[in-house]
Amino acid sequence: MTVRGADTLLTESYPYPELVGDQLCNLHVRPCVMIPFSETAFPEWISAFRAECEPPRRLRPTEPASEANNRLRGHVDDVEAFFAEYLWTAVLDPELEGFATELLAAPYRDTTFESAIHADFSPRWKIEAYLFTAEEPPAELKTIRSAKAESLYSLRDGMYPTERTKEQILTEIRAKSELFGYPDCCTEQFLEERAARFDVLLEIGAERIESLQAECETRAQVQSAFKAELDARGLPVEDLNVESRIIKQLEYLNLGQYFEEWSEDELAAFYRRKVREPLPDFFYAFFTADFYPHHPRCDASIEIGKRIESTLEQSDSSLVALYRATLMTNVFSCLGFDDLQLHRRLLSDVIATSRTGT
Ligand SMILES: [Zn+2]
Repeated sequence: MTVRGADTLLTESYPYPELVGDQLCNLHVRPCVMIPFSETAFPEWISAFRAECEPPRRLRPTEPASEANNRLRGHVDDVEAFFAEYLWTAVLDPELEGFATELLAAPYRDTTFESAIHADFSPRWKIEAYLFTAEEPPAELKTIRSAKAESLYSLRDGMYPTERTKEQILTEIRAKSELFGYPDCCTEQFLEERAARFDVLLEIGAERIESLQAECETRAQVQSAFKAELDARGLPVEDLNVESRIIKQLEYLNLGQYFEEWSEDELAAFYRRKVREPLPDFFYAFFTADFYPHHPRCDASIEIGKRIESTLEQSDSSLVALYRATLMTNVFSCLGFDDLQLHRRLLSDVIATSRTGT
């Protein structure tokens, strides 16, 4: 056991129960986990960031992209300091022990053509907190940091991805997979899928996207023209994201009924019942959010998921129910049930009922 004090966060009023059930439970077994500061997960922090310290991100009319990138990269330390403070005051209890954290903030621009067809190209911030049990910050963090910077500068005109963008993004994915202790079989499958997607987008090319934008009058027209381009290259737009593969692999389970037809009360009752016993094996392959096993029956992933559970049972059994509920949430999120606020209410309910033993 490595993390101590996580049970102090097991209260119904703690706003981020999924972090305890996922990242902190995982840290008992995995060397490093990451909390991404996304707009959906932490809307209140992101607005505080915007109000207090976000550097102006829009391009000045005459400013070349590389100068804007340099200007933003000059603010990295401030942005990291801002979120590091939030991390230890609002999210993690200072009583927690057994791991260290490092903040990584990087300006980025959307590198996907499917976003490019309707996005403005102003840079945004990607902010990630790495939690690790090693004494020294892991070496991969350096690789991740430089891959992020390189991919920002590799965009053509500050907008369109190039072959070098693809390489840097794949480098970042590989370094993260190693750092997070993901099984090789799943990493290879994911890299292959990401590379194939990039290849199709690069084959369509920036010129074609620009001419579609010029030809079409409405956004809907651009989107449907883009969809036709993808279809012609054998990559339907529905298959751009890896979730669609997972959905197909899980289809035989007919899980859809749980979240499409049930009320929140029914879901809560289902969660309360299910977390009392070990879950079916495939749930353990989804041991953390944002990880995609090469198959829900991947032995190596299931082994990690079960090892986390058995470690918790021995050392921190008050977390087991929440961990199981988080596994369910991870699977349902892959299937398109991604209402984070509802997930949080379900997890808080599991905390409340497992504490009172009802
Ligand atoms: Zn695998």
